[in-house]
Amino acid sequence: MQLYKTDLHLHSVLSPCGGLEMSPQAVMKKASEMGIDIIAITDHNSMANSCVYQRAAVKFGLNYIYGVEIQTAEEIHVIALFDNWKIAKEFNKELFNSLLPIDNDAEYFGDQIVIDDDENIIRSIKKALLNSSIWTFETTLKKIRNSGGFAFPAHVDAHTNNVISQLGFIPPDANITAVGITANCDEKELIRQYPFLQDYALIRNSDAHYLNDIGSGITEFYLKEPNLSEIILACKKKNGRKIKYKWRNNDKQ
Ligand SMILES: [Zn+2]
Ligand SMILES: [Zn+2]
Repeated sequence: MQLYKTDLHLHSVLSPCGGLEMSPQAVMKKASEMGIDIIAITDHNSMANSCVYQRAAVKFGLNYIYGVEIQTAEEIHVIALFDNWKIAKEFNKELFNSLLPIDNDAEYFGDQIVIDDDENIIRSIKKALLNSSIWTFETTLKKIRNSGGFAFPAHVDAHTNNVISQLGFIPPDANITAVGITANCDEKELIRQYPFLQDYALIRNSDAHYLNDIGSGITEFYLKEPNLSEIILACKKKNGRKIKYKWRNNDKQ
């Protein structure tokens, strides 16, 4: 078993709230400098830049997982991860069609830029990505699961746009094993506040929108191989795979 550093929630230039500096080369260079082994770019409601970032990740020797940060009808942010592009692409199409038909206000929110491998701007997405899907939280989880993806609600310790802020609890039939936490989350305090969270794997990510934030929040996993199925096993504490928590005795987790 080997220890792998991961960041499974960060943004590319596609996210209107993300900096233009988040180019594939710059993101992957910074991530490798920060010692990250596995990375998932998770833009808001779209994977339009996934392949370009995947190829850049490979160039820098990083393992890439296809991802997206979905905003459900209840305005809950959910991270969906996929281990291959074929299924991710199909899911992405369906997700895009489920978004409310509202145009992006680029002046206000920023541009939604799709780029090529040479970092040229190919197009910008018209439909607003900082918006909700018509899918409910329950439907979203079901769709991800049925597509063979892995889902975890994002940043449960944030003030807004998470399952606790929007619903007040995690539905027991949600059938999830992990939740995301922010870069600066105090896990002990979080569990004191919401004791039910001790039953979930806590995945810390940077949610970086700017280069300087990359590396600010990582999760270390004990895995056999640096891939998504191993991460899922670690979230379930199966076959020796697990998360290395600095704040609690790992033998007791
Ligand atoms: Zn979010
Ligand atoms: Zn995010």
